[in-house]
Amino acid sequence: MRVSGQLAAKLKDLSVEVQHGVSLATRTSLEIGGTTDELIVHRYDRFAEVMSLLASERIPWRFLGGGTNVLIGDGELSWVALHLATAKPGTRVEGNFAHVDASADLGAMVTFCAKHDLGGMEGLIGVPGSVGGALRMNAGAYGTQIGPHVREVELYRVATGKVETLLGCDIHFDYRHTSFAANDVMLNVKLELPSKLYKEILSGIRMCNEKRRASQPLNQKSAGCIFKNPLGGSAGRMIDELGLKGFRVGDAMVSDRHANFFVNAGRATCADMMGLIGAVRERVRVAHGVELENEVIVWQN
Ligand SMILES: Cc1cc2nc3c(=O)[nH]c(=O)nc-3n(C[C@H](O)[C@H](O)[C@H](O)COP(=O)(O)OP(=O)(O)OC[C@H]3O[C@@H](n4cnc5c(N)ncnc54)[C@H](O)[C@@H]3O)c2cc1C
Repeated sequence: MRVSGQLAAKLKDLSVEVQHGVSLATRTSLEIGGTTDELIVHRYDRFAEVMSLLASERIPWRFLGGGTNVLIGDGELSWVALHLATAKPGTRVEGNFAHVDASADLGAMVTFCAKHDLGGMEGLIGVPGSVGGALRMNAGAYGTQIGPHVREVELYRVATGKVETLLGCDIHFDYRHTSFAANDVMLNVKLELPSKLYKEILSGIRMCNEKRRASQPLNQKSAGCIFKNPLGGSAGRMIDELGLKGFRVGDAMVSDRHANFFVNAGRATCADMMGLIGAVRERVRVAHGVELENEVIVWQN
């Protein structure tokens, strides 16, 4: 979708940078995605005005964080990609609380907090992407999830057209699911983290990094796990038991290292990846009677 010159000028007044004709393949860890205009919001305090302008101009949008859990359609997209300018370091520590910008890199936030002797997030160290994406997905690994640490979230709500603050106790965090509305945009979060010595946190971080390196195809283009684990089961194990490691549709391939990671083994398109997801889901349904649910967020046109 192309933003007109007139609208781009109005957006510029609100400190929004417009990049025309961006291939979203360059913005996602799968390196798959069509083309659209990208709107980078530089001032959080003007976010509500930006959204009100987009609504009045009837511009459809999708909010893109680090792009590590999305599968985006091919070709010219019918929506713009909205993005918050990356904050560095984006984290401020106050006692046992960390105030973090949603655009901050999750891993950088974990190490920043560790240097201030705040732990509890070691398991999340290798989860790529932004803090906003981690909140939306309730990212988790090795027994740690971000949700239980959340005390407050500042977010823009399309339902009210306002920036509001939600208390952690009013947000429901579940396995890769949260109670945020689909079009809420997280701007900041306040986390409460336990005090821990830096060297102890560091040894936890190293252990998690080793486990990840031993089991995941970290040098290949992926979006992490494609499917959520069904209750009491493991999607990866089910796919592996069907001998599907290495199975491919076009250049989309089931990783031969971790069967729930589907990789772009060359020039995979969204259509290839959707074909692979559909074929694997069907094989698992027939063999195990289980309908696997996507963990990856799919945005087609
Ligand atoms: C190699 C690899 C390993 C991974 N391992 C794990 C793992 O162990 N555990 C795990 O949970 N995940 C894992 N993932 C998946 C992914 O990293 C997480 O889901 C991550 O939290 C997504 O963050 P993101 O910023 O990249 O989100 P994106 O992919 O950009 O977006 C994902 C969703 O979040 C929404 N979103 C992003 N930012 C915001 C915001 N500020 N406000 C509102 N909505 C927002 C988007 O609209 C979209 O719906 C892995 C991915 C890869 C590539």
